[in-house]
Amino acid sequence: MSKIAFFCIPAHGHTNPTLEVVKELIHQGHEVRYYSYECMREKIESTGAEYISCDDYDFEQKLTPADGKRIAEDMSFAIEILVNSTLAMDAALLEQIKQWKPDCIVADSMALWGKLIAKKLNIPFVSSTTTFAFNKDSAKVMQGSLKDLFIVLIQMGKAHKHIKRLQENGYDIKNVIEIIQNDNDTNTIVYTSPEFQPYSDTFSDKYVFVGPSIRPTNDVFEKTREKLVYISMGTVNNDMTAFYKNCIDALKDSDYQVVLSVGSQVDIKQLQEYMTKSESKAQFHVLPYVDQIAVLEKADAFLTHCGMNSVSEALYFKVPLGMYPQTNEQKGVAFRVNELGAGIYLSSDAISDIQIAVKELLQQSEYKEQATVINNSFSKCGGSKAAVEKILDVCS
Ligand code: UDP
Repeated sequence: MSKIAFFCIPAHGHTNPTLEVVKELIHQGHEVRYYSYECMREKIESTGAEYISCDDYDFEQKLTPADGKRIAEDMSFAIEILVNSTLAMDAALLEQIKQWKPDCIVADSMALWGKLIAKKLNIPFVSSTTTFAFNKDSAKVMQGSLKDLFIVLIQMGKAHKHIKRLQENGYDIKNVIEIIQNDNDTNTIVYTSPEFQPYSDTFSDKYVFVGPSIRPTNDVFEKTREKLVYISMGTVNNDMTAFYKNCIDALKDSDYQVVLSVGSQVDIKQLQEYMTKSESKAQFHVLPYVDQIAVLEKADAFLTHCGMNSVSEALYFKVPLGMYPQTNEQKGVAFRVNELGAGIYLSSDAISDIQIAVKELLQQSEYKEQATVINNSFSKCGGSKAAVEKILDVCS
């Protein structure tokens, strides 16, 4: 039996793919401690892992939704937050981990503290990457444009002072690249297929592309119309009332069933009133959160912000995508989907552009066909069992 410590940031998109891996480890008789945050406690404990709270040492919990948006756009700010958290965890957790002596630490690629604690204590380490794996080749896709690249370079300069803070606290880390890039010597689990990962042939055999980890669901979403359109901007930067209203206006005269998952930052009552006020032929469900897996199982098109999980889940169910990415990372995912022909961009959030995109996705079968091709590549991956194999390999 091995002892494995998981570390993650408090984000559903980063936590969800690890849950099946944790379940499989426990199923095979291993012991898992999962260092995370109160908002993730329930789902972590449901795997059978021991949940350990990092709330007291966390800086992210005190951030506002506006800060969340800034983290996605401003790398220097993101690194400042990560370094703050690492130094706080260092003081509080290092002794505890030393005593428990895990055989391996598995840390999300953003949970820098997991990676650095492993390095400091010389514990075997696996990186868990819920976005595309990032190196200088795949960065071409992730950064989108030259202007974005220029901004990132400026931010890297600013981020250097935070690297110095790590160095002063005994961490052997040389530059920002070491934080954001997956190097070819690090054992890394990537939750996608080599076919979907851009430039997958530039990554070493330390990488295992296990395919998306789709959580099982017992919920069944009732489909009441011939076409079901699902709309979600994810769980982080989803404060987009104007966009949701435009979606309602764009689709109200159709005979579709439309599910809008709008998050908890918007005034949901106001949106529901807006929906009921406008005479609509369509059947709308406007909700703060849905069981996305259950909805995607039945959906015919998905308007998405292109979070990696949402896109993978949709492709897993062969659902074509209308893409409205907001951050660089999401733009990278959208670029890849567009390149492989499984979705189209919304030209803007204007009512007419939403209508054009949805119509195109529902009428042209090629998008679904290409989604099916990507789905086939997912089926060839080893899933959570392959991820577990990698972790146990590293343990031994
Ligand atoms: N999700 C969900 N219900 C919702 C909205 C989102 O279950 O109403 C889940 C979704 O299935 C996915 C995750 O939350 O696993 C969102 O992750 P993603 O990477 O797509 O976007 P993020 O929220 O990190 O921007």
